[in-house]
Amino acid sequence: MDKIVSLCARRGFIFQSSDIYGGINGFWDYGPLGVELKNNLKALWWQRMVRERDDVVGIDSSIICHPRTWEASGHTQNFSDPMVDCRACKKRFRADQLDDAGKCDARQGSSEHDLTEPRNFNLMLQTQIGASEDASQVAHLRPETCQSIFTDFKRVREVARQKVPFGIAQIGKAFRNEITPRNFTFRSREFEQAEMEFFVHPSEREKWFSYWRDERRKFHLELGFSPDAIRMRAHESDELAHYANAAEDVEFLFPFDWQEIEGVHDRGDWDLSRHTEFSGKDLGYTDPESKESYTPMVIETSMGVDRTCLAILVNAYEEEALEGGDVRTVMHFAPSVAPIKAAVLPLSKKLGEPARELERALRRRFATSYDETGNIGRRYRRQDEVGTPFCVTYDFESEDDGCVTVRERDSMEQQRVPMADVESHLRARLES
Ligand code: ATP
Repeated sequence: MDKIVSLCARRGFIFQSSDIYGGINGFWDYGPLGVELKNNLKALWWQRMVRERDDVVGIDSSIICHPRTWEASGHTQNFSDPMVDCRACKKRFRADQLDDAGKCDARQGSSEHDLTEPRNFNLMLQTQIGASEDASQVAHLRPETCQSIFTDFKRVREVARQKVPFGIAQIGKAFRNEITPRNFTFRSREFEQAEMEFFVHPSEREKWFSYWRDERRKFHLELGFSPDAIRMRAHESDELAHYANAAEDVEFLFPFDWQEIEGVHDRGDWDLSRHTEFSGKDLGYTDPESKESYTPMVIETSMGVDRTCLAILVNAYEEEALEGGDVRTVMHFAPSVAPIKAAVLPLSKKLGEPARELERALRRRFATSYDETGNIGRRYRRQDEVGTPFCVTYDFESEDDGCVTVRERDSMEQQRVPMADVESHLRARLES
């Protein structure tokens, strides 16, 4: 993990937020390469989950919702972790994660923490709306993106002219006041979720649960995870939320253990029924053909965007031993998520002008970069380290033969390609 964290900071993928003030625990900034990686992941998710489907539509809802939302969803009452404090060093821990608490450095004669009794700590971040400090103006930053999908269910179904079964998807920020943020971005206080709620007839919940579980597994394999680094784990009955019928996590093998990056849940009719009860607005559904009225059941897929980015970074990282004892650091990103698809490198600064012209032509199609400083070997290594699938080198012969050299990141194989064909050549190889 230390190597990933250091590469992320050094090359500008992800680093501590507010670093110049000493950072702020649980908050992270994505730099120029990180934002490309994250945007690529979100775009691929949106493509597969919304654009390529007739039966899923997207929304983008507000982060702050009506306070009744969180009463109906159960978050106001139940969204808490047990917390304990050390009276001596004042550190705060999750009562169910005391194995990681370490030693107390403030007590005389003992290294044990002097812990309080566990108390429940609500994980929703609170804020105030408007100028008045009246308690009625208290609101919360959403701890998950899906609740607006439920409260908007009726309107979205009508405007999109959808019939059950169908789904509503959204990508957005969520906030949880985690007691102990840790493992880099894995457990943050501000993060993004890509969620989809699929509404089905009660008789079809098992069928759709299996369908979405398989689809989501396929998606993660498409991201380039090796099959032995990804697994599906069904929840034991005592892990299930009280309203849930079934749940399976997509887990990735991080350096710190197998951990969840996405959850697939059968949430039953809990959400729509509760919002119907709390709002007084009927969120039921009447089948236009059979005329049967019922409350649809919900199958949810909930992917953590930041956790999946972290898994992509971990999965891609390799220190490859080369002949002669040299080591190169390579990020083996799948082309679909690689921040830069192609780098254009003139062999000499003297060739800068035509090389730049080529890069300007390519950048209309792909995310590209241009680099003319340092020897060519070093420039290849710089691109390998950020996972650029192809380097295109313009050399002195290019002037005469109209060709450039295309070097592939993983095999390091080089191929001479006519300049006029570079764009289609790269496109074919990036999409293969
Ligand atoms: P955990 O048990 O690890 O706290 P969870 O079961 O509470 O996770 P869900 O409520 O199912 O998580 O949220 C769906 C997804 O959102 C998770 O699979 C994860 O990828 C992401 N997620 C949840 N909490 C965090 C967090 N604090 N930081 C980053 N991502 C998170």
